[in-house]
Amino acid sequence: MDRRSIIKHAGIAGVLAAGAAPAAHAQGGAIRWRLASSFPKALDTIFGAAEVFAKKVSDLSGGKFTITTHAGGELMPAFGVVDGVQNGTVECCHTAPYYFFGKNEAFALGCAIPFGLNSRQMTAWMYEGNGLKLMREFYAKYNMISFPMGNTGAQMGGWYRKEIKSVADIKGMKMRIGGFAGRVLERIGGVPQNIPGGEIYQALEKGTIDAAEWVGPYDDLKLGFHKVAPHYYYPGWWEGGPQLDLYINQKAYDSLSAENKAIVECAASYAHVDMQAKYDGRNPGALKTLVGAGAKLHPFPNDVMATAFKEAMALYEELNAKNEDWKKIYTDYAKFRADSNLWFRFTEARFDNFMQAQKL
Ligand code: CA
Repeated sequence: MDRRSIIKHAGIAGVLAAGAAPAAHAQGGAIRWRLASSFPKALDTIFGAAEVFAKKVSDLSGGKFTITTHAGGELMPAFGVVDGVQNGTVECCHTAPYYFFGKNEAFALGCAIPFGLNSRQMTAWMYEGNGLKLMREFYAKYNMISFPMGNTGAQMGGWYRKEIKSVADIKGMKMRIGGFAGRVLERIGGVPQNIPGGEIYQALEKGTIDAAEWVGPYDDLKLGFHKVAPHYYYPGWWEGGPQLDLYINQKAYDSLSAENKAIVECAASYAHVDMQAKYDGRNPGALKTLVGAGAKLHPFPNDVMATAFKEAMALYEELNAKNEDWKKIYTDYAKFRADSNLWFRFTEARFDNFMQAQKL
């Protein structure tokens, strides 16, 4: 009889008795952890993935293993969470690895790089390819172990005050853009700006910046960018499938029983699938609302895509020459990307293109 059956059959006396006995599946009794997120609660799908994870851990452990979730800034600065986990200030964090490309560009490979893997491909590289193994080898230098925990799917290319007719219009354009992508935007003439979510609207309205990218319709709608910069471009070629990660302090992870380690793995995988499902389920309605409210949809001109692609590949070659961690991981990543795109261009792309053209 397992512990939960004992509780169910024996009532409170049984709970007390079971609590007093050495629990086979939860060494050391109750476990209480704290999770520091890099995100505000307003990003309910992204911050929400940490809540989904924590609830699953509690449910799967029969309430013996609980994790409290804290928004960015609550326990430590949003971008201080890797230091927090590395130093053991908190047991775990939930973040977008590419925020930390300033520590080492290889962090971006665990999240998204311009013209990288899409969401399906990223998950395949992680679980079936060498992605998880290679990223964990790298994260071990920071005293932590990673678990994939969420993906937004391909993002939108952001909001622009004026139309972009060609790559020449990018020259001098001040754009709020997240993380590593700024390195490529710079190379095609843009001026990347680092502005927190809460201040983007005002900067766009005043014209302090010319453009801003955030996530996609569901999150963008809440911030109302369409009212001040109506040209909504696609796709977000710098975020074809950005992955969020759960990072756990290695010592904290090692202290878990085999059962609790399995619980963490299962709960993180569940939250990983759940977050993508939420975006795929919620973006279509939000896009309709945005277009109804005046957003003007445009694909990026071909020369913008082609020039950015060329510059991204040149940047990756430069990084191969100067960053050993990048080179080791990117070599595998690039091969996986080539093979995967060769496969996806047949059934997936043809099927999707056909279906999306139908009037259903
Ligand atoms: Ca983004």
